[in-house]
Amino acid sequence: MMKKFGFTINAKRAIDLDINDRSIARQVAARVPSWSLCIGCGGCSATCTAGALTDYNFRKLHLLARRGETSALRKQLNNCMLCGKCTLQCPRGVNTRGVIAALMELLPGE
Ligand code: SF4
Ligand code: SF4
Repeated sequence: MMKKFGFTINAKRAIDLDINDRSIARQVAARVPSWSLCIGCGGCSATCTAGALTDYNFRKLHLLARRGETSALRKQLNNCMLCGKCTLQCPRGVNTRGVIAALMELLPGE
């Protein structure tokens, strides 16, 4: 059993799906229906220039959006250049650039 000292040096990592705003993912899915075809293969992440230079990738965006982690999601969006390379190579025809653009519109920069 872990001893409790009444404080911690680590940030809280629990994700409360009941509190998080998961409506963002529903709104984006309605605007860009091809998003539902994503199989999480990672092809988009592999080709992403921003992902080669930062810890950013489209699959992470996808997960954060579905979990409603909007603050982390907004920070991730700052890395995308909207170049569209990811869209060109997606084997499922997901309009990744459209998903990202919709997320940027729904979550304007701080
Ligand atoms: S390449 Fe397409 S199917 Fe694969 S993870 Fe990216 S968006 Fe999803
Ligand atoms: S549009 Fe964004 S996510 Fe897609 S390849 Fe370009 S920088 Fe990466």
